[in-house]
Amino acid sequence: MPVFADDHVIAPARVIPRSCEVLVIGAGPSGSAAAYWLAEAGFDVVVVEKKHFPRAKTCGDGLTPRSVRQLEDMGLADDLSRYHRFEGLRALAYGRELLLRWPRHPDFGDYGYIITRADLDALVARRAEKVGATLLEGCEAIGPLGAEARAGGRAEGAVVTEHGSEVSHEIAARVVIVADGSNSRFGRALGATRDRAVPQGLAIRGYYSSPRHNESWIESHLDLRDESGSVIPGYGWVFPLGDGRVNVGIGILSTFERWKEMNTTRLLQCFVERAPSSWCLGPESALGEPTGGRLPMGLSVGPRQGPDYLLVGDAGGSINPFNGEGIAYGYETGRIAASFAAEAVLANDNRVLAGYDAKLAENYGLYFKTASAFMGVMGRPDVMRALVSTGMYSRTLMEWLLRIMSNLLRTDEIGPAELAYGAISRLVRSAG
Ligand SMILES: Cc1cc2nc3c(=O)[nH]c(=O)nc-3n(C[C@H](O)[C@H](O)[C@H](O)COP(=O)(O)OP(=O)(O)OC[C@H]3O[C@@H](n4cnc5c(N)ncnc54)[C@H](O)[C@@H]3O)c2cc1C
Repeated sequence: MPVFADDHVIAPARVIPRSCEVLVIGAGPSGSAAAYWLAEAGFDVVVVEKKHFPRAKTCGDGLTPRSVRQLEDMGLADDLSRYHRFEGLRALAYGRELLLRWPRHPDFGDYGYIITRADLDALVARRAEKVGATLLEGCEAIGPLGAEARAGGRAEGAVVTEHGSEVSHEIAARVVIVADGSNSRFGRALGATRDRAVPQGLAIRGYYSSPRHNESWIESHLDLRDESGSVIPGYGWVFPLGDGRVNVGIGILSTFERWKEMNTTRLLQCFVERAPSSWCLGPESALGEPTGGRLPMGLSVGPRQGPDYLLVGDAGGSINPFNGEGIAYGYETGRIAASFAAEAVLANDNRVLAGYDAKLAENYGLYFKTASAFMGVMGRPDVMRALVSTGMYSRTLMEWLLRIMSNLLRTDEIGPAELAYGAISRLVRSAG
């Protein structure tokens, strides 16, 4: 019931729960997925999100079939159909062009979507709320709860503050799922660090109005160039949103020896200047300033589990090193963490959480390790140029590459994939 004070209505004060079974820090893809699966199974789950939805998040907004599968599993198929669907990838490099459809796969559809993160993240967070999660927007976790927690290594819950308020609240939890993204202050407070031997990505994107906003293919340019025209290891993209806009961006790898010298804003400008004129990209069609961020990849951040917490999504460095995709892995690691948290609550024994990392290693370990090693050599411009220029003459090789890089191989294809990987490795060696 609202309270009336003179001539205006004061919204009722929000009640911050003092405890819950599982507390999730952050309502991006990984946090909302964890919250959805826990709430759907009947657990008492609270999610704190420092922003209010809809909120922007720097991203290419590209959802591959892996992401779509997770969204459909969360009951969002009808909601997705309102957004821009695409059939596959148009790869361009060195004057050649290849249209590569998403592969057929028994576990995944052969389509993706482009959805702004303002829309997507609100959709999934509301879905989690609908099945029973308590979502506290405008509520920031400022650190782990408890004296021992503050000394590092434990999280008995979190200390939170509401936006615009100095007052802090304590939320105690049996298990904490840390889903606060690539900067992960909360994860760092628990002692998590990034393994610098694993490559990371750096990407920047902006929105442009474009007459080709309704295209049913996403576009990747595999011959990204700097101002001097030299090829830089990385790629540029144009992702159509179907609402008058396209998302345009570039991504580079830390395995490129000059990556620290790179001015990504300038690289994006160079890409925009060289992009096919039919997209009509330029200063006059730009919709605001571009923004960028780092991409922690290949499970490079850890430890991802502690006595009472689990790290998911970017907080655990879950991005696929092959293609910079992180949304699907956010949903998937959030779902896996939810199952371990649920088991721990049911068993009243947090030792169950110790199995989480082994499960991640089983699902992604070998694939991410291969991807990181591959990206190690791809950081060399001559190797990248040799592979891409050869690949652009072979539809078969590029179709395999798309399947491998987007982690969409069928189990019966692992043999041929190894052959394809072997062919690529030989090519890479011969380029060296
Ligand atoms: C330029 C760029 C382009 C990209 N393009 C793509 C793409 O096209 N497709 C793709 O799959 N991936 C892409 N990625 C990667 C993708 O954005 C991430 O992998 C994904 O967002 C990870 O989800 P997450 O839930 O782990 O973290 P986030 O999406 O970062 O969500 C973290 C949430 O936690 C909240 N939060 C943070 N700290 C706190 C706190 N202390 N208390 C409460 N709340 C907190 C934040 O507000 C945020 O909502 C891109 C990344 C970049 C930088």
